[in-house]
Amino acid sequence: MSGIHTTEIKILVKLQTSDSSIDAINKKINFFPKEIDDINEAFEEEKSALEESKNFLFQIQVEKKDKELSLAQKEEDIKKHQRELNLLKDNKAFKALLIEIERDKEGRDILETDILTLLEKIDKATIEDKKNREEFKKQEEAHFLKIKEIDTSKKECEAKLETLIKGREELAEKISGDLLEKYEHIRGRRANAVIEAREEDGKYFCVGCNMALISQNIADVKKKDSLGICDNCQRILYLKKIVFDS
Ligand SMILES: [Zn+2]
Repeated sequence: MSGIHTTEIKILVKLQTSDSSIDAINKKINFFPKEIDDINEAFEEEKSALEESKNFLFQIQVEKKDKELSLAQKEEDIKKHQRELNLLKDNKAFKALLIEIERDKEGRDILETDILTLLEKIDKATIEDKKNREEFKKQEEAHFLKIKEIDTSKKECEAKLETLIKGREELAEKISGDLLEKYEHIRGRRANAVIEAREEDGKYFCVGCNMALISQNIADVKKKDSLGICDNCQRILYLKKIVFDS
């Protein structure tokens, strides 16, 4: 392909740098939703851990209330049986009721012990719950801050992307349609469509695929008005000294 001026290649190299930046920014922008999802998911886990400690406290408070009601009932039973005891004349029935009262008292003692144990549990759980709430509040603040930071980064990236795209359009306008089409076609498959050809010990090779250039390619890249295409990887080639040092 002839008639390609080195200035076009120079612009193409710039355009490729711009395209790489656009790709990197797009990748970053596309990653934000996942980042937000991950943060939200971790936060939901913290939330449910807090719910769990709250539920546990509620559960033992209910348990204590139930035991207190049972205790009151037991006290009532004891009083009732003691009143009945005073009215009994029959010795056998008297003894039977006495045994029952003893059983009531044992039941009462057990309930009292249970309530004390529950009180201790409630104290501990209340402290734990308070600690968890405070910890959660901190995490909640950090969570909102993180989301806000991501949102700011996203907006910055979007603004940067817009500038880059504009710059890219301006560069693209300066390149002939054929060359731009060729570049875009190759870039659809490879990260670098335009690549340096280098000379080492008198031999020329393509930096993209590392293969030695055929003589026609070498001749092309040495000229200012012809386009070198790597025979192996089809990338657009350029020699730095020809394109940039002139
Ligand atoms: Zn190559």
